[in-house]
Order: sequence, then structure tokens, then C-alpha cells
Amino acid sequence: MLIDLLKETEALLEGHFLLSSGKHSDRYVQCAKLLQHPDSAEKAIGIIVEKLKDIDFDVVVGPAMGGVIVSYELGRQTGKPALFTERVEGKMVLRRGFKIEEGQKVLIAEDVVTTGKSSYETIQEIESLGGEVVGIVCIVDRTTKALDIPVYGGTKLEIDTYDEENCPLCKSGIPYKKLGSRNLKK
Ligand SMILES: [Zn+2]
Repeated sequence: MLIDLLKETEALLEGHFLLSSGKHSDRYVQCAKLLQHPDSAEKAIGIIVEKLKDIDFDVVVGPAMGGVIVSYELGRQTGKPALFTERVEGKMVLRRGFKIEEGQKVLIAEDVVTTGKSSYETIQEIESLGGEVVGIVCIVDRTTKALDIPVYGGTKLEIDTYDEENCPLCKSGIPYKKLGSRNLKK
């Protein structure tokens, strides 16, 4: 189970946290903690690859930073090229000589998908280059409403966040830990 891998590698923490957004939550996900271990990354992406058996795609593209290792490992296990986009002056772009051919089927690779913001920015770039995006792959699917593109997540996780004044953990007098990662804002 992917959820066990997340816990074993401390990529999923449980407790009481102050997020960089200022909100409080009872769980915190940082996929880099899992992906730092190549054997865990291999297992996690392997679970997702099982779900992709009937999906026809030519290339994987992950938005940096979170999507880079996921893209690489997915490409390694499926024998497809693994590209990444990066943010330049606020815009998500394909650089470094990476190319998308007209009509190529593309899978987007992410660590976590919440609102799909970085995925959609990547989709826009891929489509402007003539590619056709067929889905989004992620380790943790945190979406709370359906996106207009299929999401193939390793595990589904709904993490509630609270303003301090409404936080049930604060009300119970549990002290919080401060965590900093822009990752959570996605
Ligand atoms: Zn709180």
C-alpha cells in the first residue's frame, strides 16, 4: 500500500501542524521524503504503473520540482522519455532542448495534486507545443473535486485544513509544529 510507504518514510506525518499557508492541519505530506529513497520511489511509482496498463502515452512530463523524480521514475519503469517543465519568469515552460512532437500523447507527473494548478500550467505549455495530455499521474491525489482530466493517483488523501480560530486541535490544547513548504500550496 502506498499509504504505508508514505508513513514508513515519514512523507506523511500525523499530529498538529502550522502550514506555510497559515492554516492548521492534522496531517502533512512531503513526498520528497519518500522519493529520497530510490527503492521506495520504485515501489511507489510501481503501484501507479499498475493503474496505467490500458493508457496509451508516448512521453511523461513533470513540473519541477515536485514532478521531476516522479517523471523520471515513471519513464524508467515504462520505457518512455521523462521530461520536465520549469518556471521561468512565472511561466511553466519546457526548456533544455526538450521537444514534444505534434500529436504526442503526454502524461503529466506530479508528487501531489490538490487544485491541479501546476498541472494545468504544464498542460497549457504541452498543448501549445502540439501535444495531447491524456492524464495526470501523482503519488498523492488530494483533489476534493474532479478535474476535467483523468487523475491516476497512488493514493487518495483528503487533508482538512483550518484557520487557527476554527482549529479543533488548537481547541483541544494540542501544541502545533511549524512546517515550511510551498509544496502544500499547490
Ligand atoms: Zn491548530
